[in-house]
Amino acid sequence: MPVHPRPPGNVATAPPGGSSAPPGGSPDPGRWWQRAACAGRNPTWWSSEDRPKWPAAVRLCLTCPVRESCLAEAVRQHDSGVIRGGMLLVDTSRGYGAVPLICANCGRRPVRLTESGGIPRYCGRTCQASHQRAARTLVAATARPR
Ligand code: SF4
Ligand SMILES: [Zn+2]
Repeated sequence: MPVHPRPPGNVATAPPGGSSAPPGGSPDPGRWWQRAACAGRNPTWWSSEDRPKWPAAVRLCLTCPVRESCLAEAVRQHDSGVIRGGMLLVDTSRGYGAVPLICANCGRRPVRLTESGGIPRYCGRTCQASHQRAARTLVAATARPR
C-alpha cells in the first residue's frame, strides 16, 4: 500500500500529528504535505481496503488546507487504492478515475456508506431528496417553452 501522505520520503520530516511550519514562519508552499490534516494519523484509514474508516478519513480531508494539492499530486502520480482529497482513486479495467466520497449535494460530509458495498452519492436521505428536487426543477425549467 502506498505510504501516506506524499511524498513518502518526506513524511518523516513532519512531526507526528501536526504541521512542521517553522516557528514564526510560514510553511514552504512547495512542501504542502507539511500542512496535511492527516499528518501523524494512521495511513490505513486512507486505504481502499479499510472501508469502515473511510468516513473518518474523508472528514479529515474536508478540513485539510492542502486538499487540492494533495489530490492533484496523487492523480499526477497515478496513485490508486487510496483516498486523497476526499476522493477514492481507482485504477480498474475501465480506466483510472476518482470516485467522490464527499456528498454531491452539501459537499460538507462524507457519503453514507451502505452494507451492500456500493458508494452512494449523498450523506443521507435529506441531501439525496434535495439534490433530486433541484435536478427536477432544472429539467422542468429547461423543458418549458419560451
Ligand atoms: S486531503 Fe486528505 S489525504 Fe490529502 S493531505 Fe489532506 S487529509 Fe491527507
Ligand atoms: Zn449532504
